[in-house]
Amino acid sequence: MMKLFDAHCHLQDPRIFKVAPQLIKTALNAGVVHFAVNGISEKDWNLVKEMSDDYPSIVPCFGLHPWFVAERTDSWLNSLKDFLRATPSAAVGEIGLDKGFQGRKTDFKDQVEIFRQQLELAKELKRPASIHCVHAFGDLLQIMKATGPFPAGVILHSYLGSAEMVPEFTKLGAYFSFSGFLMSMKENKAKKMLKAVPSERILLETDAPDALPEVHNLDTLFFIDTDSSVPEELRVQGENSTPSDVSPSERPSPGASDSSAVPKETLNHPANILNILTYVASLLELNEEELAELSYRNAVRLFSYADSKPLPYTSISRRRAANGDMEYSFEFEGLFSLCTAASRQPLVFFSRSYNPGSKDTLVHRCYGSSQESEDGRSTLELMRTGNSASNGVSILLS
Ligand SMILES: [Zn+2]
Repeated sequence: MMKLFDAHCHLQDPRIFKVAPQLIKTALNAGVVHFAVNGISEKDWNLVKEMSDDYPSIVPCFGLHPWFVAERTDSWLNSLKDFLRATPSAAVGEIGLDKGFQGRKTDFKDQVEIFRQQLELAKELKRPASIHCVHAFGDLLQIMKATGPFPAGVILHSYLGSAEMVPEFTKLGAYFSFSGFLMSMKENKAKKMLKAVPSERILLETDAPDALPEVHNLDTLFFIDTDSSVPEELRVQGENSTPSDVSPSERPSPGASDSSAVPKETLNHPANILNILTYVASLLELNEEELAELSYRNAVRLFSYADSKPLPYTSISRRRAANGDMEYSFEFEGLFSLCTAASRQPLVFFSRSYNPGSKDTLVHRCYGSSQESEDGRSTLELMRTGNSASNGVSILLS
């Protein structure tokens, strides 16, 4: 099954928090393996942390969003540092600059100052940062040039900037993440911009509960049940219609069948990343599987940093070596430093193409050899770089 990584969303949002467990379940069933959940102000960082503790699939991100800059307390920066220190698996976000309708309500000088402090913090902590930018790409580039480059990566979330700026942002370490907002851009402009983005820097996101994708066929959309703005006849694919969770097409068609039938405030479901995938793949003239694979790998690479959450391995194969030992070979994604569990020592482990510290290596192939234990089972323990007690992942090899 295709694996997807929602590189930017807000599952802690008060509009959907109550149904978040069901949204996550539905999205997992649809192939979404991870969600980068972005806090937006001091008020929701705790909730993001709790959700991340409850769900291995959630990558927590803490940040002060430009719309909420005026509400900050005097201790916001210390509090942010405390959250990032107490949550070694966390990235930074959502932070940014906004000269749009909403953003104009906040003094731009303040925005710049708050943004710069958070960007510097992300760089210092070697974590990625998720960046919101509306009508301020010139300012953003200038600040990033003064602060960057960013070897841990930055995510230009819901990117709607120009094709021309892509190479400059790329040089500084940027990834480009696409959401339903891309559908508001003229198609030929979007196509030109997408084609300017290097394939190893493309990400997909929903920005749920915002940015509902515009679609021609409503049957492909997932709706959120508690959203009272959704007319009754569109709610059938809601969160309580469990058996049809992953087949939105089972929903009976309402009168009009495209997005024009849906009220503007309709909330977005994280499983709608499938619609983004379809749209971006069509503009890039890639098939959906290819784009899913490449955007997933990009996200796993980006969200692999010291003490990040263990991300899943892809495959294990084994064979009997000439000397009778079992030989394992497995491929996995992300950055790992590797060791065996001392107490279950039968696995002698060595690696060939493992390349610690390199974010360019997409797949590490590692080989271990082992005599099987009496019950025919061996357990291999992988530890992430950073080596905190909680970041190991155990793999049963047989
Ligand atoms: Zn967002």
